Amino acid sequence: MRAFSKDAVRPEVRSLRAYDLAKEASGPLVAKLDFNESPYDVPAEIKEVVLANLRDRLWSRYPEFGAPRLRAAIASAISRRPEEIVAGNGSGELLLAAISVFAGGGGGTLALAVPTFSLYGQMAAIAGARRVDVVRKGDDFAVDEAALLAACEDGRTVPLLCSPNNPTGGVASLAFVRRLAETAPVVLLDQAYVDFARPEDDALSLLDAVPNLVVFRTLSKAYSAAGFRVGYAAASVELARELGKAVLPFSVDHAAEELALALLERRAMFANAVAAIAKERERVSAGLRALGFQVATSLANFLFVAPPVEARKLREALLSRGILVRDMTAVVANRLRVTIGAPAENDAFLSAAREILR
Ligand code: PMP
Repeated sequence: MRAFSKDAVRPEVRSLRAYDLAKEASGPLVAKLDFNESPYDVPAEIKEVVLANLRDRLWSRYPEFGAPRLRAAIASAISRRPEEIVAGNGSGELLLAAISVFAGGGGGTLALAVPTFSLYGQMAAIAGARRVDVVRKGDDFAVDEAALLAACEDGRTVPLLCSPNNPTGGVASLAFVRRLAETAPVVLLDQAYVDFARPEDDALSLLDAVPNLVVFRTLSKAYSAAGFRVGYAAASVELARELGKAVLPFSVDHAAEELALALLERRAMFANAVAAIAKERERVSAGLRALGFQVATSLANFLFVAPPVEARKLREALLSRGILVRDMTAVVANRLRVTIGAPAENDAFLSAAREILR
């Protein structure tokens, strides 16, 4: 018998920190503002439809190969063609696939505008992509456009941009995305939070003009479906076909597919909740500024904030009151990320912050 040695693990994977879940509140949960989820569950009538449809399916059979029904529904929802869509087990699966296809295998390089979604670094390590970081600038953590263009100047480096950016909340301009696509072989654009931004931030409008752009979207945020894993990538037909080769068949199961179909069919129902969250974002932002917080301008369903006291201590004090927010101090000094919840959760957060700061 040979003992397991960590030498068997590729060094870039070995050096990743094992995913560590933050401590949960010990008492009653008052507000869960740490995962950028929707505060609104899927409505009961939609759950009933999904359960009934699921009951009728043959659970012993694999889902349809290539998820044609789901891809058609997604395409119809965003006015594209099914051949332009790759569906996946959350957008995370598709991001990993794209990094593998375009930058992985030890030869490629991924350019990130940091701080950004922490899992990108993990995905780069798993895919065997080198990584270059371009630091964001200013109070709103804007992309350093010149520096990111320069990082991609070799014509091989693949930029992965998040817009609106997790955790900072700002967007990349579509004009910049176009410029980047002139230099880079492909541009990967993660728009998980774009439903909370302005119509002009939606990069799907670029797809006809920019054949080397991939836009990643998810049903986990605005559509309340994080508990069932559905995301998609939209790109030109040829690019979508190549990306699809790196996604294992049947990655969207019967349950996730039925939920996605039901949600997409009723997508107009979600407009109010999304608008309410965007309005709450502005109210919470103003409330925090009045308390002396620095708040980066956000077009997502979360705020990236620097409190006027030590962020870690504030987080602990909120936790003891049943309010969960994300500690981002390992990424940017003294920063927290606070998801926008339902009005009552936001009120609980604001009044707890007021009380702690007093
Ligand atoms: N991209 C970003 C920026 C995210 O914040 C998340 C989830 N937190 C994802 C992608 C992955 O979302 P999912 O896999 O649920 O679609």
